Amino acid sequence: MENCSSFPKCTQCDKGQMLPLSDFSNNSVAIRYKAWACTNRECRFFVVLRGGDVYYGTATSEAAR
Ligand SMILES: [Zn+2]
Repeated sequence: MENCSSFPKCTQCDKGQMLPLSDFSNNSVAIRYKAWACTNRECRFFVVLRGGDVYYGTATSEAAR
């Protein structure tokens, strides 16, 4: 991820970067940058755009370890 230094830094852990994610709907139209997720596995902070609203959270419910 060294080449991705242009992404904004995660304000939650101050270590990872917020990585833009795209969503693909049923008619295969990509919704770009619908969600942002922290690259730090220990942080797992994410931001999701859904229906014009912004949701913040951490993916602790599906803890990898
Ligand atoms: Zn983070």
